[in-house]
Amino acid sequence: MSEGWGIYLQVPFCPTLCPYCDFPVVLRTPGMVEAYLKRLAEEARALYAAFPIHPQSLYLGGGTPSFLKERELEALFSALPWPLAGAEVSLEANPGTLNRARLALLRDLGVNRISLGIQSFQEAVLRRLGRAHRRRGAFRAVELVQDSGLRWSLDLILGLPEQDPWADLREALAVGAPHLSVYSLQIEPGTPFALEEYQPDEIPFEAVEKLLAEGGLERYEVSNFARPGEACRHNLLYWRGGFWLGLGPKAVAQLPGHPRRRETRPPLPRWLQGKPPEVEELDEEEFLKERIMLGLRLKEGLELGALVELPELLKAIEELQEDGLLFLRGTRLQPTSRGLNFLHPVILKLWQALERAGQGPSGG
Ligand code: SF4
Repeated sequence: MSEGWGIYLQVPFCPTLCPYCDFPVVLRTPGMVEAYLKRLAEEARALYAAFPIHPQSLYLGGGTPSFLKERELEALFSALPWPLAGAEVSLEANPGTLNRARLALLRDLGVNRISLGIQSFQEAVLRRLGRAHRRRGAFRAVELVQDSGLRWSLDLILGLPEQDPWADLREALAVGAPHLSVYSLQIEPGTPFALEEYQPDEIPFEAVEKLLAEGGLERYEVSNFARPGEACRHNLLYWRGGFWLGLGPKAVAQLPGHPRRRETRPPLPRWLQGKPPEVEELDEEEFLKERIMLGLRLKEGLELGALVELPELLKAIEELQEDGLLFLRGTRLQPTSRGLNFLHPVILKLWQALERAGQGPSGG
């Protein structure tokens, strides 16, 4: 079941705070980045002593990691003791924070994949999303990343009433994105969008999948589409039940053991003081439920192993199969395209079957 190890590193700084975002991010304030880098180096040293792994991936997310200055990026990478040879090293970037020198430095530091937060190519949409870049900046960033020779991905947010979603998808195909993450705008409680009761449009993902497939991007996860060989290895590790370390404020780690251990680091102020992470232990049933929830996000599905012998689960699978939502191939359970679009009720039904069965044999 394990896919090996990854490392997630949270960089909590952003140039602007977007009105739809509920991530734990902050603007830069004097001395804050220095304090963050100092604490990060301490945390990395302690974690390395406990986990001297050779990671298959490192993902720098945020926040906006590309918003760090050159010397700060150098300090960040020199604080990481793990060997990165052969690893996929992804970094989230906003268009306005990239230039040729910054990309060359990132490549020298070991970054080999850029996840570009374009969100839209449409002026009205970018303005509504409160993004710092405009249409021209989006194309410029794509051009820079293409010229850098690094692997890359685009993020799009669809579902704003001001938006033509098909125009955005076609532009992403036209610029040759090898990987695309497509999200429906979600209104998160407490965000400015929630306060103004902003109502997003529904996005028909069957049509999105069809359009992108015609452009050579295969849907491999609910929201992710890629050309062959371009899927994000780090995110695959989450969905396939791998393990990862978490560094930085609010970073989550998934560690092995019985029971499996999930750690969530504290928010920035307490993290800077060196407070310990919150620990959650997943019992076997919770773990299996999570495996089903995450594994079915992938088109490849998940391996059920001995779990297929549970009559309650098998019955639920057969019913979902009759509804055209998933299919069982040997012991591998896979969602259909329709299933990917109606995943919530599918998962609930399987969870209820597991609860009825009192869980039983360990599988996967
Ligand atoms: S740039 Fe990204 S992480 Fe930062 S506030 Fe906007 S959506 Fe949130």
